[in-house]
Amino acid sequence: MSALLTLTPEGLYCPAGDFHIDPMRPVARALITHGHSDHARAGHGAVLATEETLAIMAIRCGEAFTRSRQTAVLGQKIALGETIVSFHPAGHVLGSAQISIEGKHEGRLTRIVVSGDYKRQHDPTCLPLEPVRCDIFITEATFGLPVFRHPDTRHEIDRLLASCKLFPERAHLVGAYSLGKAQRMAAVLREAGYDRPVFLHGAMEKLMAFYASRGVDIGETRKISAADRSGLAGEIILCPPSAINDAWAGKFPDPVAAFASGWMRIRARARQQGVELPLVVSDHADWDDLTTTILETGCSEVWVTHGEAEALVHWAQTRQLRAKPLHMLGYGEEEDSAAAEDATA
Ligand SMILES: [Zn+2]
Ligand SMILES: [Zn+2]
Repeated sequence: MSALLTLTPEGLYCPAGDFHIDPMRPVARALITHGHSDHARAGHGAVLATEETLAIMAIRCGEAFTRSRQTAVLGQKIALGETIVSFHPAGHVLGSAQISIEGKHEGRLTRIVVSGDYKRQHDPTCLPLEPVRCDIFITEATFGLPVFRHPDTRHEIDRLLASCKLFPERAHLVGAYSLGKAQRMAAVLREAGYDRPVFLHGAMEKLMAFYASRGVDIGETRKISAADRSGLAGEIILCPPSAINDAWAGKFPDPVAAFASGWMRIRARARQQGVELPLVVSDHADWDDLTTTILETGCSEVWVTHGEAEALVHWAQTRQLRAKPLHMLGYGEEEDSAAAEDATA
């Protein structure tokens, strides 16, 4: 009896619908959960994704990123071969979606949900995650250990603002990934009442403008020119994480190196990366949100794509759920690859 979803060298594949989800290599038809570079690659024959994800792929990879595009409207059912697919908000970045597939799995009508990346924390820049009832839930486990409990984002923003107040003579360079994190930092700063312009490294500009064009309130942003740098004492500057320690950073007045990432929970990592002000802000679910989401889907089976798979699989088994790790390589690299890509932009 055949499986509704299988693992191929390209990634997750649905034979009954003849499509891949977030494939690592070019394929005939790809369904894409969101625009991060480890999920959204160029070169597929056809791409089905939300309108925002298609637009983000065009911004990052060029208009020729695929031969044909099809827009998925959230919640709408689309027939593909012998399957019905639908997209549902994942709360990860603008346009991010979980993909539901309904069809025969081992002889039985089954619903599988591929969540891509997701989170449940406050984020004014995208729609919140909607748990989807399903039989099999496919999740990542980047922060799949009980030690990972992300603090309130607003609390981290308050720490940044407190530092600006304490060190008005120093520029605050905040490393943030250019898709999702940077816009979220700006939007939450606005919610906290911060009304100074937010300054941008050149690599941040395009996606920031895209979010603004979609109605996300990021307030006034300004691209920095080389001449401005020395005059930015006390200001907040968003830049690619790789820029906080390079020569570019040295041109600012006594810079404070900050970095907004879930990994900042690990102090040794922050120290290693020369981060003076670690801000624990993540676009991935922490332990509580992973386990809550799994339970809310009502699934009887969990597949874990990557990250701390063993811990999450073990937890699921203690809840009488069937669970297995997929050991998928190539995901979870968006942070590093996006940083590299931004640094050269
Ligand atoms: Zn992602
Ligand atoms: Zn990812």
